[in-house]
Amino acid sequence: MTETGRIIDGRAVAKEINRQTASDAAAFMSRTGRRPSLVALQAGDSPSSRLYTNMQAQAAGEVGIEYELRIVPENAGEEEILAAIEKINADEAISGVILQMPLPDSIDSRKMQMAISPAKDAEGVHPANLGRLFYGAAAIAPCTPLAVVELLRRCCDDLTGKEVVIVGHSEIVGKPIAMLLLQSPANSPTVQICHIATRDLPAHVAKADILITAAGASQAQWRRYTRAAAAGESPELPDLSPLIPAEIIKPGAIVIDVATNRIPVGFDESGKPILNDKNKPAMRTVGDVEFEAARKKVAAITPVPGGVGPVTVAMLLRNTVACATGWRL
Ligand code: NAD
Repeated sequence: MTETGRIIDGRAVAKEINRQTASDAAAFMSRTGRRPSLVALQAGDSPSSRLYTNMQAQAAGEVGIEYELRIVPENAGEEEILAAIEKINADEAISGVILQMPLPDSIDSRKMQMAISPAKDAEGVHPANLGRLFYGAAAIAPCTPLAVVELLRRCCDDLTGKEVVIVGHSEIVGKPIAMLLLQSPANSPTVQICHIATRDLPAHVAKADILITAAGASQAQWRRYTRAAAAGESPELPDLSPLIPAEIIKPGAIVIDVATNRIPVGFDESGKPILNDKNKPAMRTVGDVEFEAARKKVAAITPVPGGVGPVTVAMLLRNTVACATGWRL
C-alpha cells in the first residue's frame, strides 16, 4: 500500500496525447493540403456557451484543427437543426461535428445526434459507432470513456482479472467505459456497473481494484434543492457530502473520478449558501470521491478538476483527426 496516492495529472496526459494528434493533423495537412476541421453546432448563444466554445476553439487551434462555431437561432425547430446537420454531412471539407448540449427542450437531442453522419461523429455517440464499440471494433468512441481508459493505461499495465467497479450507467459515460474495458480479450478486467438502484453501493466499491465514478450525485442534490427553493418550497438543506467516502475504498485501488459537481462551498448558520464577493453563492468543483482522504490510501487518483476533463477534450481532437483521415464503416 502507498503512503500517499499518486495524483494523476490529466492536463499532462492531455498534452502528451495532443502532441500525437498535432503530428497526425500535420501529416493529414501535408497529404491533402487542408487541415482537419471541426464544426460545433449550437442552438442560441450566451456568454457562458461562448466561454466553452472559445476553449474548444483554442484547443483545436493548438493541434492544427480548424474550428468553426455554427449557431442556429435559440428557437430553431428540429427541421432547421436537421437542415444544418445535412449541410455539414454533405460538406467534404468538414471532418467532424459536435452538437453542443443542451438543445432547447422542444428538440429531441438523440434524433439530432443520429442524423449526424457516423463518419463525422467526433463525439463518438452515434449508434453506428456505439455498435462498433460493442463488437470490439471501435474507430471512434465517446470522448470521456476514451479519456478514462487512457488515464487507466498510464497507471496500470495489465488489467487482466482486475475488479473494476463503475458507478454510473449512462450511455455516454458508464456503459461505453465498460465496453472499452472489455475490448481486448487478452487484457480484460471483470467489470461491474453500479447505478442509482444498486443495493449496498459501499459493498461493491470496497471490492474495486479500479474504481471509476461518474454519478454526479452532489450536483443532483444541489439541483433538486435549488429547484424546490425556486418553486417557493422550503426544502431541507441538501446533503452535499461525497457519494464515495474514502473509508469504503479498497486500500491501494486506482480511482478515476469522472464526476463534475458544481456545489456551494458551504452554508451559513441560517442555512443560506455562503456568498462570494459578487453576492452569489461561492461555488467549488468536486468529484464523487472524498479526494483528500482517499488519496492517502489509494495507489493513484484523478483530481477534479484537472483529471478526466482535459483528457476528454484531447480525445475529441483525436477523434476529429480520425474522422478526417477517413476511417469507414
Ligand atoms: P447521468 O446523470 O446521465 O448519469 C448518472 C449516473 O449515475 C446514472 O447511471 C445514475 O444511476 C448514477 N447515479 C446517480 N446517483 C447515484 C447514486 N447515489 N448512487 C449510485 N449511482 C448513482 O450523468 P452522465 O452524463 O453520465 O455524467 C456523470 C457525471 O460525469 C456528471 O457529474 C458529469 O458532470 C460528469 N461528466 C464529466 C465529463 C468530463 O469530461 N469530466 C464528461 C461527461 C460527464
